[in-house]
Amino acid sequence: MSLSKRVTLISPSATLAITAKAKAMKAEGVDVIGFAAGEPDFDTPEHIKEEAKRAMDKGFTKYTPASGIQQLKEAICKKFNEDNGLDYAPSQIIVSCGAKHSLYNAIQVICEEGDGVILPSPYWVSYPEQIKLSGASPVIVKTEEENGFKLTAELLSKSITKRTKLLILNSPSNPTGAVYPREELEAIAEVAVEKKIYVISDEIYEKIIYDEARHTSIASLNLRIKELTIVVNGVSKAYSMTGWRIGYAAAPDDIIEAMSRLQSHSTSNPDSIAQRAALRAISAGQEPVKEMVTEFRKRRDYMVERLNSIRGFSCLKPQGAFYVFPNVSAVLGKSFNGHRISDSSSLAELLLTEAKVAVVPGSAFGRDGYLRLSYATSLENIIKGLDNIEKVMNRI
Ligand SMILES: *Cc1c(COP(=O)(O)O)cnc(C)c1O
Repeated sequence: MSLSKRVTLISPSATLAITAKAKAMKAEGVDVIGFAAGEPDFDTPEHIKEEAKRAMDKGFTKYTPASGIQQLKEAICKKFNEDNGLDYAPSQIIVSCGAKHSLYNAIQVICEEGDGVILPSPYWVSYPEQIKLSGASPVIVKTEEENGFKLTAELLSKSITKRTKLLILNSPSNPTGAVYPREELEAIAEVAVEKKIYVISDEIYEKIIYDEARHTSIASLNLRIKELTIVVNGVSKAYSMTGWRIGYAAAPDDIIEAMSRLQSHSTSNPDSIAQRAALRAISAGQEPVKEMVTEFRKRRDYMVERLNSIRGFSCLKPQGAFYVFPNVSAVLGKSFNGHRISDSSSLAELLLTEAKVAVVPGSAFGRDGYLRLSYATSLENIIKGLDNIEKVMNRI
């Protein structure tokens, strides 16, 4: 017996090995500090949990329409209008089991065997695997640290071939925290419109943004790019609702209709109770998001300043999300206790065993020579973890 070729092409999550090892160490009683988390450390706000309890008590526990309840779609349309200047009808919205699921559905309905999908690196870990699952091939386009890890219109132009079907953009970015300003998106949109390629815009970190940075949805720039764009967003990151599994997408009717058909035969509707909770999260006051961002900003400021003072690290100040992506290429090739640090995974491994700190190697995001550290953990942990890292780095 053999498994499908399709599934043998996808790799297990590259972050899994290190998190498994960190977990094993914790189970043995070692005090491991986790900078690997991909989710906010805050609890889901109380009013959202209350809404879920109410939904259960009222018996809202049955199948809903496969693409989501009308009321939630209407609230999502209102959100797009108010936050992004985008006008969609409820028929142009799908609610899925997380933004990841919306991304999966979108890639499945757009791409097929032989298509190329432009993916700027560093990229979020699931994109290349989801692209491969559709039969298409990822075309990795390396962005430069000097340009804040952003794709430029010029780089995009150069990477497009006859086979190019889709571009995946993620702003604010996981892992780099890069935020694309409006002018840069305009230049990218111009290329996409001219070459007629679809754009998936993953805007899951939209609300986690700092200082003068402003979030712009590429779909909002003009009607021609809106026709080619699938905007993906969700409640996981903004409302600390990662476990509830509610994400959504907005796109022209034919794309949403196809995604809904696919979803109706795979997962059916996303969780009914979580849909009510998400409705509350989106419609109620946004103070909890603002409080979370204020806290994240303090941690980011500390982490960036501190990392830049540690030997071997150099770090840009991210403008969004809750990760830093320091350059550690200065220590690659050096040794610690006779062990050569050949790449970012061996450095991550060393930091785990010696500093008792879990970080994710840049290679997981298609870029060796970097690490990703999440600051979705208390300032106290951040201080302790960076103290530990500094001690180890001073011995390399
Ligand atoms: C967390 C994350 C997602 C997935 O979010 P869910 O709604 O929890 O599925 C999608 N894209 C990026 C870049 C993420 O970091």
